[in-house]
Amino acid sequence: MRPFWLEQALNAEGGEPCAPLHGETRADVCIVGGGYTGLWTAVMLKEQNPQLDVVLIEADICGAGASGRNGGCALSWSAKFFTLERLFGIEEAVRLVRASEQSIHAIGAFCEKYAVDAQYRLDGTLYTATNRAQCGATDGVIAALERNGINSFSKRPLADVQRMAGSAQHQEGWFSPAAASVQPALLVRGLRRVALQLGVRLFENTAMVGLEEGRPALIQTPDGAVRADRVVLAMNAWMARAFPQFERSVAIVSSDMVITEPRPDLLQEIGLTSGVTVLDSRIFVHYYRNTPDGRIMLGKGGNTFAYGGRMLPVFDQPSPYADLLRKSLGQFFPAFAQVPVAATWNGPSDRSVTGLPFFGRMGSGGNVFYGFGYSGSGVGPCHMGGQILASLVLGLDNPWTRSPLVDGPLGYFPPEPIRYLGSLLVRNAIRRKERAEDHGHRPRHLDVRLARFAAAAGKADKG
Ligand SMILES: Cc1cc2nc3c(=O)[nH]c(=O)nc-3n(C[C@H](O)[C@H](O)[C@H](O)COP(=O)(O)OP(=O)(O)OC[C@H]3O[C@@H](n4cnc5c(N)ncnc54)[C@H](O)[C@@H]3O)c2cc1C
Repeated sequence: MRPFWLEQALNAEGGEPCAPLHGETRADVCIVGGGYTGLWTAVMLKEQNPQLDVVLIEADICGAGASGRNGGCALSWSAKFFTLERLFGIEEAVRLVRASEQSIHAIGAFCEKYAVDAQYRLDGTLYTATNRAQCGATDGVIAALERNGINSFSKRPLADVQRMAGSAQHQEGWFSPAAASVQPALLVRGLRRVALQLGVRLFENTAMVGLEEGRPALIQTPDGAVRADRVVLAMNAWMARAFPQFERSVAIVSSDMVITEPRPDLLQEIGLTSGVTVLDSRIFVHYYRNTPDGRIMLGKGGNTFAYGGRMLPVFDQPSPYADLLRKSLGQFFPAFAQVPVAATWNGPSDRSVTGLPFFGRMGSGGNVFYGFGYSGSGVGPCHMGGQILASLVLGLDNPWTRSPLVDGPLGYFPPEPIRYLGSLLVRNAIRRKERAEDHGHRPRHLDVRLARFAAAAGKADKG
């Protein structure tokens, strides 16, 4: 079963996968993984240096991972400002917030330049509170953004918030125009088409099964190999199992999604008529938006945790939390309570300790680069990832290659079974805390303290 968006995109496309690699081939650069990270890197490399011979291998088809199944909410790093400042200092934090906003616009410009219809809508985002306890949660970070001259958010009157968001559940809301929504699989498949157009040699159904470092490095596949001067590992959640040194750098956690059948008439009625993305202020946020054909999509992260970073079969099945999602959908939108659900699905997110992705080079040769750890917030940031990885591959000296983002993982989770048991402990404490707050009760002190472990990375992580 392919997730809803990917199925929709493949039906619209009607094409065939690229042939797998048979035999050995030589390349300047070999990229492993055909999601946003790998494909942005490939496209940017070819745009900057058309002569470069770039091979991309993908274990399945491009977009089969998180990029073809996410919520399509392209958000900036504004809400992560405190984390960025704490880790990297004020100057870099300001630069990264600005760069993350530029990426939102650059995705739109890319779609326009190459006629990629990814249903890109630059209609902004609303960060809201859905209970009294959440009210005021966003104020501090917005004040800090304001102090540093990078604030794009403004507080909106409650009636406007409820109308724009289509739901009376919201009790306050901050709006920023610097956010977009996309049909995620159309974007990743569009990137694939452009990569091919620019001359990237793409092999699908071709997994990397071994990597021998060296100059050139040797990337082994089931039926062949690529010898490449430089390698980019863009395998997202799969990195944790493929390379033992990364096992504890991320926790693999699901984001679960539901989408309704189209009811454009009801959307008109409730007011959710733009492509605005809406996020509440939970630790594992509810996030939702409409689609141009009149559906509502709603997602929530932090449900299934994978022991030891394993890729669980459940990640490719309908969401085991479908009932919970339907219930949330009905609470946000009573008018949609009886509208049939078209699909539910889920997928793995690579949550880092900081909630930020990290990049770097590994091995003795210094020619193998990687980037992952987007923590459920990668639609916009993967465009930054592409700039970072392309800059590293080209050996450039620029703000991306000088950024502390390229210093590798900035923290590690404890070893198993502590990470798994600890994750469940924290998740369950968050659930109890937020349930109490939804009912206007005071949460238990211990639950509040445990919840802080997850809250540290900041808002807007959907995994
Ligand atoms: C359900 C869900 C909802 C989300 N919602 C949002 C959202 O609304 N907004 C947002 O900003 N972010 C969201 N995210 C996160 C976002 O989708 C990811 O951060 C982003 O897609 C990561 O892109 P990527 O290219 O790094 O990884 P992926 O798209 O996962 O690509 C990695 C690719 O590597 C391939 N691969 C793995 N191993 C190998 C191998 N050995 N050889 C070759 N290829 C290999 C995989 O098949 C896969 O195609 C969501 C994630 C999920 C799962």
